[in-house]
Amino acid sequence: MKTRIHKLLKDKPIGQNVLVTGWVRTRRDTGGFSFLDINDGSCLANLQIIADDKLKNYNTEVKQLSTGCSVRIEGELKESPAKGQDVELHATMVEVVGTADPETYPLQKKRHSFEFLRELSHLRPRTNALGAVARVRSRLGFSVHQFFQERGFIQVHTPIITTSDCEGAGEMFQVTTGQSGNVAEHFFGKPAGLTVSGQLQAEVYALALGDVYTFGPTFRAENSNTSRHLAEFWMIEPEMAFCDLAGNIQLAEEMLKYLLTDIMTHCEEDMALFDKFIEKGLLKKLAGVVEQDFARISYTEAIDRLLSSGKKFDFPVQWGIDMQSEHERYLSEEVFKRPLVVTDYPSGIKPFYMRLNDDGKTVAAMDVLLPGIGEIIGGSQREERFDALKSRMVEAGIEVEQYSWYLDLRRYGSVPHSGFGLGFERLVQFVTGMTNIREVIPFPRTPGSAPC
Ligand code: ATP
Ligand code: MN
Repeated sequence: MKTRIHKLLKDKPIGQNVLVTGWVRTRRDTGGFSFLDINDGSCLANLQIIADDKLKNYNTEVKQLSTGCSVRIEGELKESPAKGQDVELHATMVEVVGTADPETYPLQKKRHSFEFLRELSHLRPRTNALGAVARVRSRLGFSVHQFFQERGFIQVHTPIITTSDCEGAGEMFQVTTGQSGNVAEHFFGKPAGLTVSGQLQAEVYALALGDVYTFGPTFRAENSNTSRHLAEFWMIEPEMAFCDLAGNIQLAEEMLKYLLTDIMTHCEEDMALFDKFIEKGLLKKLAGVVEQDFARISYTEAIDRLLSSGKKFDFPVQWGIDMQSEHERYLSEEVFKRPLVVTDYPSGIKPFYMRLNDDGKTVAAMDVLLPGIGEIIGGSQREERFDALKSRMVEAGIEVEQYSWYLDLRRYGSVPHSGFGLGFERLVQFVTGMTNIREVIPFPRTPGSAPC
């Protein structure tokens, strides 16, 4: 059975016979033997292979190996005299599984730009940086589940096709049947779309099971071609019954700190790569987030800070505006220099389900802003009072009959409850230092682009 290189480098079973599989990164020949660097994707490091001319296919095959070829190699693991590696594999068998024509294989040894690699989403995971992103993303996903499961949260699979369109007005992809292009009206009895958030359905389960979370793909047909928006992205949405805004903020802060701590301990090698080549000082930045308390400010205070900053923004500042990324980043990067939680936004710029504060003007909302990223989490305490919710729905022009199920949650055994949405790709961006969100999801979907 094959051994993954990650495990070999960790256990170092010197003197043992092992089988490894992978892709050739480089080949270097010296008199009578060759050095092969093999990567199998299990870790950033390559395994060095010593293949000599006693192998029966040495001249015919081994010496033809080029970057990208796939191989199965058997041999004895020995201590390596070379600098920068502890072990090397002395091959007794090198089987060429698949060749890769060096004339046409697009991933040559030189460094390629991320823009160039985006055109090659089927090959880019074979590069050091994108391979590292994939491993870090996988670990973060695992760690999200671990965080919630340790705390007794129950995972709920909320639907991808939804008929609750109130949240995404205008941003929802419509689901049609067949080639007619008809909205799925005939299929479900009403128009359906791809979900923009699992929140409303998560609320259903929170009001039965207490603490729940959903972690799945969401879709937004917004035409925002930015480095932080995708048309298909993954969202983590916890929802807690008997929980107010303060408890919600506490969970968000604990969760981010937990995830960052976990990734720094379990993905050291990949994180060191990002720290060195992608964002200098990344590890220090992440450690800083873990060590410090998040700053807190109300929306109204934030607007005052922006107005008195004397800074000129592209979007003029005024109470009631939806803060733009430039405002969010100014506050978290220049004023507070750490993660910032902004609370109590004007009700006019937030969805109907957020709980109205006693001032009658603001809602119990909270956004978490990170330096370099801006908004990473958006959440709120939900409106649990039947009459208040109903009048906000009417105000928002929502057909109340369509949402009688949602109102039922307030009719029968209603409780204060809260939750938030954490954009998974924005988290991976923050953790890896990648400047463009297109690099942190395997197959990015953006306006005008959906390869593979
Ligand atoms: P933004 O103002 O950045 O567009 P939003 O206010 O639309 O965000 P929410 O609806 O609150 O975001 O969604 C919750 C979280 O989902 C956001 O905090 C963000 O992390 C993430 N998110 C939202 N839209 C996108 C997108 N198009 N691509 C990737 N992540 C997104
Ligand atoms: Mn948005």
